[in-house]
Amino acid sequence: HADMALYRAKHLGRANIQFYCPEMQENAARRLLLEDGLRRAVSNQELEIYFQPQLNASGQVIGAEALLRWEHPEMGNIMPNSFIPIAEETGLIHSVGRWVFEQACARLNTWRENGVPFNGYISINVCPWQFNRADFVDQVRNTLEKYAVDPGLIMLELTETALLYDLDEAVDRLTTLRSMGLRVSLDDFGTGYSSLAYLRDLPLDQLKIDKSFIAELNTTVDHPLVESMIAIGQHMRIPVVAEGVENLNQRDTLLSQGCERYQGFFFCRPLPEREFLQWLAEHERNRKGLALPAPGQT
Ligand code: C2E
Ligand code: MG
Ligand code: MG
Ligand code: MG
Repeated sequence: HADMALYRAKHLGRANIQFYCPEMQENAARRLLLEDGLRRAVSNQELEIYFQPQLNASGQVIGAEALLRWEHPEMGNIMPNSFIPIAEETGLIHSVGRWVFEQACARLNTWRENGVPFNGYISINVCPWQFNRADFVDQVRNTLEKYAVDPGLIMLELTETALLYDLDEAVDRLTTLRSMGLRVSLDDFGTGYSSLAYLRDLPLDQLKIDKSFIAELNTTVDHPLVESMIAIGQHMRIPVVAEGVENLNQRDTLLSQGCERYQGFFFCRPLPEREFLQWLAEHERNRKGLALPAPGQT
């Protein structure tokens, strides 16, 4: 459709660019609907956080990523890749991002009060717009205080784009956040277009290999890129987490390369809070072997 439209536009001449493309119109209409709906999504309580565990090499849960879901009253479940970009373009990301951070803190607070056996961190995705706002650190500090959350329980997931907008400023900001006790993960590692020089300057607590590289572990015998990324983490003494681990084969390959942390459908899909806590309890039982009756008992 796009090719066709371009072809026609070219041949009609600049003065008279008009083309018919139902797909494009549909997309534009859908976008308007999403944009409009997003304005009300926070106050209408249509947003929800799902949780996906991160495990260490011996299968212990060390954290969970908070992943946003939007249940639109008419359009149903909408995934973040379809609405986060719109939220960023419209500036709505600020209220959405604040909501996510606040929710994560509220959950941690409730879990602690209820004695939930979760001792890991929650990873929160922070987009470039949010991170580079002057009041970001204050917001983080205020929300942590409001919910009495230990900053050590929060890992911020930031992309290269967020950090390289203004490297010096990012280094300052990360230093402040880490001195408060928060941790920082570099999300989508390997997908950016900049040199690796920034790794020298940025204080980081985790490198997160993008799932596109993990998917390649299925199709090739050699995996020099994944190996190199794990090696970079090892040399820099920064733990590496692989995201998008979908099968045993990928897990074993990563394990043999010395990857320390794992996240993916192979272990658990992102789940709503209640199901996540059920999964967590069962995982703990299985790990402790309590799921099996003791010898001699029935
Ligand atoms: P991301 O931060 O790189 O998150 C990882 C994505 O991989 C998630 O998609 C997760 O559901 C998916 N995933 C996890 N394990 C597997 C697997 O084994 N196989 C496959 N194929 N996928 C897996 P999701 O939830 O659709 O989120 C997409 C992106 O949207 C995220 O990428 C993140 O950039 C953004 N996002 C999600 N929640 C938030 C949020 O609260 N705030 C902001 N600013 N961005 C968010
Ligand atoms: Mg992430
Ligand atoms: Mg990622
Ligand atoms: Mg990714």
